Amino acid sequence: MVLPAQREALELRDLPVPEPGPGQVLLRVRACGVCRTDLHVVDGELLHPKLPLVPGHQIVGDTEDGRRLGVPWLGWTCGRCRYCSSGRENLCDEARFTGYDLDGGYAEFAVADERFCFPLPDGYDDLQAAPLLCAGLIGYRSLRLAGDAERLGLYGFGASAHIVAQVARHQGRRLFGFVRAGDEAARTFALELGCEWAGSSDELPPEELDAAIVFAPVGELVPAALRALAKGGVVVCAGIHMSDIPSFPYELLWGERVVRSVANLTRRDGEEFLALAPQVPVRTEVEVFPLEQANEALDRLRLGEVRGAAVLRP
Ligand SMILES: [Zn+2]
Ligand SMILES: [Zn+2]
Repeated sequence: MVLPAQREALELRDLPVPEPGPGQVLLRVRACGVCRTDLHVVDGELLHPKLPLVPGHQIVGDTEDGRRLGVPWLGWTCGRCRYCSSGRENLCDEARFTGYDLDGGYAEFAVADERFCFPLPDGYDDLQAAPLLCAGLIGYRSLRLAGDAERLGLYGFGASAHIVAQVARHQGRRLFGFVRAGDEAARTFALELGCEWAGSSDELPPEELDAAIVFAPVGELVPAALRALAKGGVVVCAGIHMSDIPSFPYELLWGERVVRSVANLTRRDGEEFLALAPQVPVRTEVEVFPLEQANEALDRLRLGEVRGAAVLRP
């Protein structure tokens, strides 16, 4: 499924099987998760994708020699710069991203740099493993950057929050879920996933929070989350794109509160999270679409109608 130009629908096209370059593996795609970032690419909110593009950066595929690998968003880094040489390859200026700079997994075949692929834990079938690769992995990094917060707020209950909630409960944290006003299905989902309270994002929780992770791409949620924080707390913005953050009184930040973003992932995040997931154990809820219905999957995600994570099956 090919994106010919931004703000256009994906097209079903017959492409040649890609040739792996040096260091790359050829994968037969078994499943590919659909991420909100894919929507930002299609909708033109991320400005410079390769075009035409095969989107998709949560790829589960089999190599020609029979190994199962996962391909995440981080597809390549320079390995030499200040960021790469200090454990922060997620910030590499020259990084290339799967399904953005590089063709991704909305396809029957994909190639990927083997150094950036992950072996996947047994016990997850291909469809259930796919959302671990971004929703899970970048969610895990967001959770790590929330520090040791005991009372954790999650804003936006999509694919990432549904995984992070399970990990956070496993770590003994207390959870508070925030969903769009009137979205009763999402509120119920948040409670099922272990939130002790769930309400609309303009409400204050019954207690102050030690950290909040904002998954929804809505700038208004940043001051809303700050308002819910105890002193010293952190708001972690987990998405790659967000609408503008409205101005807010300094008083909301005062008291050593912090606002920060999470950018991409490192391979270390992937190794840690994929080792942790089966211990929790994280169970992913997936809504499966045939590959040729990628546009329908994206539409449902845009409307907030997917419960858990959407996954394409070639
Ligand atoms: Zn670099
Ligand atoms: Zn993603």
